[in-house]
Amino acid sequence: MSVATHHELDLPPIQDLLHIIESGELHIKRDEETGLLAIVAIHSTQRGPSFGGCRCIHYPDLRTAVYDAMRLAKGMSYKSALSNLPLGGGKGVLMLPDEPIDRTAYFEAYGRMVESLNGRYITAMDSGSNMTDMDNIAKHTSYVASKTSDGNPAPATALGTFCGIQAAVKFQLDRDDLEGLTVAIQGAGNVGYGLAKRLHEAGAKLLVADVSQKNVDRCVNEFNAKAIPTSDILTMPCDILAPCALGAILNEDSIPALQTKIIAGAANNQLLESHMGDDIAKRGILFCPDYVVNAGGLIHAASSAGFADGHTPSDIYDTLTMVLERAKAEDLPPNRVAKKIACERIA
Ligand code: NAD
Repeated sequence: MSVATHHELDLPPIQDLLHIIESGELHIKRDEETGLLAIVAIHSTQRGPSFGGCRCIHYPDLRTAVYDAMRLAKGMSYKSALSNLPLGGGKGVLMLPDEPIDRTAYFEAYGRMVESLNGRYITAMDSGSNMTDMDNIAKHTSYVASKTSDGNPAPATALGTFCGIQAAVKFQLDRDDLEGLTVAIQGAGNVGYGLAKRLHEAGAKLLVADVSQKNVDRCVNEFNAKAIPTSDILTMPCDILAPCALGAILNEDSIPALQTKIIAGAANNQLLESHMGDDIAKRGILFCPDYVVNAGGLIHAASSAGFADGHTPSDIYDTLTMVLERAKAEDLPPNRVAKKIACERIA
């Protein structure tokens, strides 16, 4: 398995970063036997136990890993609150060592750490971890979601993203259907493929780019999608741009060149910096906040842990509509309003 590496960041000392988790908690566990060096950041348990996946990748240093854990934990608080789940935000970050690991023992050790937090944090799958890892964690704690028996969350994320696109189209274009609309999808992986299938069935025309030719080909063959070079997908003329690959793709280079009416996709942290939501709004483009649109996987995982409170990924239609209507009423970009609503609900 190829494993992502976190980029080196120019960060201040850890004590100057702690404000990110506000009144939260930071736990670090080292286990000599298995090579585990794990961080659990808990941003909030105000609405319920903190919930968030565990990321298992290489980090250049502890500070970068702690920073990642804290900012991701905070993001999970917002995401859960926006979806009205009875959950707070937390995140596990496992600093994958350079040496080979016994993966079973490694995740079992992490499971013991999660158990020691007595349910204040529920862990789940994220970049670099998989359902088998969750099964190994589950040998030592019940505070874990996305086990093999729970199923892959990606189809739920694809469904939620599709519902988000429908809501955005209704809001921005006053249309109840997607027939004939052009959707540019960046990244046709687990979520992008599922989204492409639903969009094709709804009559949309698809433009697809992926660094994996195999992933592009299956969309071309199965959904009559047009293959687009990865360098061009963000700036293709289209009705909806659906980023489903990477974060930080909306930045000072891409925003002036966008040729879409709506941005709604599954990728996490699409804005390089939050103020760039203002620049997108100034261009008359509707940016649908990613953590509203891509919450289907969270709702699925929360459901498997018994915390969905009756919510389903289809609720994203109403959640996004509520955010967009309030943004219009307050004359603010939707990303600012989503954050405001999340903070109100966490307070
Ligand atoms: P994935 O790895 O299955 O798919 C990502 C795809 O993007 C891959 O096919 C990859 O080849 C492609 N890609 C990478 N770099 C690219 C580039 N420069 N241009 C075009 N394509 C590129 O991941 P996924 O599970 O489908 O998730 C997609 C995005 O959605 C990620 O940002 C993820 O964090 C986010 N997300 C996923 C879930 C989920 O349930 N899987 C939930 C919430 C958010």
